Amino acid sequence: MNDTDDWFDVRELSDRTWRVSEATYFNDYLVAGEDRALLVDASVGVGDLRAMADELVDVPVTLLLTHSHWDHVGGATQFDDVRIHEAELPPNGTVRWDYVADTFHVHLDEWLDAFREGGGQFPDGFDPTSHEIRPVPDVSVAADGETVDLGGRKLELLHLPGHSPGQLGVLDRERGDLYGGDVLHLRRDLYAHFGGGDLGAYADTFARLRALRDEGAFDTLYTAHNRPVSGEDLSLLDDYHAGLRAILAGELSSRPNDGRPPGRVYDVAGHEVVTRPDVE
Ligand SMILES: [Zn+2]
Repeated sequence: MNDTDDWFDVRELSDRTWRVSEATYFNDYLVAGEDRALLVDASVGVGDLRAMADELVDVPVTLLLTHSHWDHVGGATQFDDVRIHEAELPPNGTVRWDYVADTFHVHLDEWLDAFREGGGQFPDGFDPTSHEIRPVPDVSVAADGETVDLGGRKLELLHLPGHSPGQLGVLDRERGDLYGGDVLHLRRDLYAHFGGGDLGAYADTFARLRALRDEGAFDTLYTAHNRPVSGEDLSLLDDYHAGLRAILAGELSSRPNDGRPPGRVYDVAGHEVVTRPDVE
């Protein structure tokens, strides 16, 4: 594998809007206007994401981190203008992948090993043994309700806690697109068992998403580890809202999570909701 172009999988979703994937598994989204572009998340930092973004757009790029988990901030040090919700930002303004949560179902070294053992090829010159998720200095605060004006195109930031306390979504109301980070996790399951996970906040997030969907604010939900969810499949938002409320009311049974960190697993609408162990 020779260069950045080979490593990233880039798909144009609509005019001046791209999904940029690392290793098929970590999706970032680049949304451009006439004056600026917003890159939503920075995946794992194996490839040169900055070069990829600069190849796609001819305007300055601001990086918006949906939250601080390692697989969203990996390439963040490649950017000068980085923003995140205050709940994910230490007081010194330097984002660290282990600030909010330090234990995950998969960690960077495990993923690198699994990728290589599965026959995956890293870009030329990349050394997996020395790769790390580095702290990101000089990060500024992004807040719920904020409008990001890209020039001829406006985005809205939404605070969507539950998976992580400061998770932000990015709403493109005109196009009906919502970029939701890890609001749905792998296989569209819900992960609320990492540090800072909060099932009550998650239920409120789904109430808000349902309301936004019902008023026509979006009809497609893009997340970091799934294909987009759209149209009738967005009934999943209703199922999860009802399911989380039932868990909180003690109405559903659970089993232990055999993954990391410890937790409980509930079945909701054919998916798994993983909570912290103290939710019974
Ligand atoms: Zn996450």
